[in-house]
Amino acid sequence: MFNIILFGPPGSGKGTQSEKLIAKYGFKHISTGDLLRSEIAGKTELGLKAKAFMDEGKLVPDEVVIGMVDNVIVNNPAVYGFLFDGFPRTKAQAEALDALLRKHEENINLMLALDVPEEELIVRMINRAKTSGRTDDADSEVQKRRIGVYKNETLAVASYYDQFGKVTTVNGLGSVDDIFSALSTEIDNHYS
Ligand code: AMP
Repeated sequence: MFNIILFGPPGSGKGTQSEKLIAKYGFKHISTGDLLRSEIAGKTELGLKAKAFMDEGKLVPDEVVIGMVDNVIVNNPAVYGFLFDGFPRTKAQAEALDALLRKHEENINLMLALDVPEEELIVRMINRAKTSGRTDDADSEVQKRRIGVYKNETLAVASYYDQFGKVTTVNGLGSVDDIFSALSTEIDNHYS
């Protein structure tokens, strides 16, 4: 398997690029944000618990998201590879993911980190809110909190994978197709 993490702050384009990478390479997509939103839509107990954190722009507790990811990995033994999007978001999640993959004799091959300036993130979240209906994108306080959480808790994930030489940074500014082509080039370079 070839397993990658698409990393970046909220609004950096992870969801958009994930869709294109999945269509091109056949990865199994694991977006913890999407999984949580579908739990909320299904009004499950997990969804109800997660909603309060998400509405405030805070992270859902590690054990909740790790459990969801474990389920998807266990139920998809024969995929080309996993593309993790919005996960891991804390160092504890990164360590847990490594342990989950190790059980299947797998590991993370590559982290692609999208680099986008903060002002642009806000613009993109405001635009996305117009069509996605995501309340966490529409509220300016929540936008700021999510960027703060990214800096305080999530950036440590990049340092964690950097110590193993697994991180490649890609410019996340420009057209969707140009960014996609830069990401594809990195994947092709690493998967041979
Ligand atoms: P996203 O769709 O990735 O922007 O995530 C939306 C929200 O879902 C985040 O602001 C968090 O509240 C929650 N969330 C998504 N993924 C995670 C994760 N890996 N760990 C904790 N909370 C998460």
